[in-house]
Amino acid sequence: MNLEILNMEVVRALYIVSAVLFILTLGGLSNQETSRKGNLYGISAMLIAVIATFLGPQVSSNYGLLIILILLGGSIGLVLSKRVQMTEMPELVAILHSLVGMAAVLVGLVNFINPTQDYIGVEKTIHSIEIYIGIFIGMVTFSGSVIAFGKLSGKLSGNPLMLPAKHYLNLIMVLAIIYFGHGFVSSANIESAYLPLAIMLTISFFFGIHLVASIGGADMPVVVSMLNSYSGWAASATGFMLSNDLLIVVGALVGSSGAILSYIMCRAMNRSFISVIAGGFGTESTTVATANTDQGEVQAIDIDEFKNMITSSKKIAIIPGYGMAVAQAQFVVNEIINILKTKDIEVIFVIHPVAGRMPGHMNVLLAEAQIPYDIVYEMEEVNDDFDNIDLSIVIGANDIVNPSALEDPNSPIAGMPVIECWRGTYTVVMKRGMSTGYAGVENPLFFKDNTRMLFGDAKESLSQVLTLNN
Ligand code: NDP
Repeated sequence: MNLEILNMEVVRALYIVSAVLFILTLGGLSNQETSRKGNLYGISAMLIAVIATFLGPQVSSNYGLLIILILLGGSIGLVLSKRVQMTEMPELVAILHSLVGMAAVLVGLVNFINPTQDYIGVEKTIHSIEIYIGIFIGMVTFSGSVIAFGKLSGKLSGNPLMLPAKHYLNLIMVLAIIYFGHGFVSSANIESAYLPLAIMLTISFFFGIHLVASIGGADMPVVVSMLNSYSGWAASATGFMLSNDLLIVVGALVGSSGAILSYIMCRAMNRSFISVIAGGFGTESTTVATANTDQGEVQAIDIDEFKNMITSSKKIAIIPGYGMAVAQAQFVVNEIINILKTKDIEVIFVIHPVAGRMPGHMNVLLAEAQIPYDIVYEMEEVNDDFDNIDLSIVIGANDIVNPSALEDPNSPIAGMPVIECWRGTYTVVMKRGMSTGYAGVENPLFFKDNTRMLFGDAKESLSQVLTLNN
């Protein structure tokens, strides 16, 4: 066996080990208790993948350049991960997705102009299709993720873009992409393929923008997970172009897990999966948020009243939302539940699937503060049990506890299941003022007879509750 063949065998073996580790990563990350292990599997899988790439047949020189680029990319990633606040994670994820998309576009373009690849017949057709689809998915992922980044970071309006006949516009763009795809694949030489490729690139760019811009308000979680899925398919398409089995497998894993997550998100928000993929789903029927309608007076309380309500309760449900992430109140919350344990007060956490600004946001916060997993419940596990809950403490949540989702068919969040805390004895909502949540909808919960408002930064208010022991 000569050295080259031996090398190929080693690379193939490393690919298999890496692919298995990536699968174990997904398994590990599906549960808080095993998520650390999942992360370690992921790091090892990536390390092995990089080593295999070094040994692979496509890298025979230029190791120096590769090392420089890895060090450069790695350092940027390290600085970003150290600097980024937990509340900025969703936009970081969105912008990283855009890089995956751009990578697929660039690999596609390089493959297209690569003079050493002279396929003929069916092979040429298949290769051209791979390039065309790869560039298309990559560009949609790129432009869509940039718009998602803008929306999540507040640089662009969170409202859905409502162009007239937007679904027809999407359909026309898809048909045009197919039409030019035919022109691209059947072009006799590279020169005649330039024009259809350039037109497709331009259309895909606008298609990605339009898909994501059409979705707004409370429906954004689905966009985040959908782009996650697209970035996986973009990586998979890159794998096909480079004939890299590992990239195909890993891309498909990310693509399909992102699609499953999108499906779960859609179910959690009572939206149709198919219409999400078509972009801008369900937005026609919604009306402008019902802000500023007179709903009566809110009942504000102070810390002492709040402490009394806590100590006279037997069972408390804590409902965290985006504001808890902003306030970084999770660590104080953990200290409080430890005090409550000593007073024989039962505490549970209730998590809404779209709470915060990214899938699993609340679980990450709670895990960070080392809150025990066995007291963390999903929304549907508790919704029928609020009769037994004396006090619900809503920490910086708003849309996820909004009764108008169930009661007002014209609400922009109509149909979205919410945590029905108002069915318990009392609810205390901790927030700084009366501003709306991400969806921009007024919340009737704040005006209910059994709701009390505790105004102020969640962490500051909770820190004062810590004196409960005294
Ligand atoms: P919301 O965005 O509805 O509400 C957050 C509330 O937190 C605000 O009303 C704000 O009120 C309050 N708040 C902010 N800072 C503080 C602070 N320092 N102390 C106390 N309160 C604070 O959050 P929810 O978690 O209830 O809902 C999530 C929303 O985000 C949903 O609409 C969801 O669709 C959307 N979304 C979710 C994504 C996901 O993947 N999870 C992705 C993108 C969007 P005030 O300013 O008065 O303090």
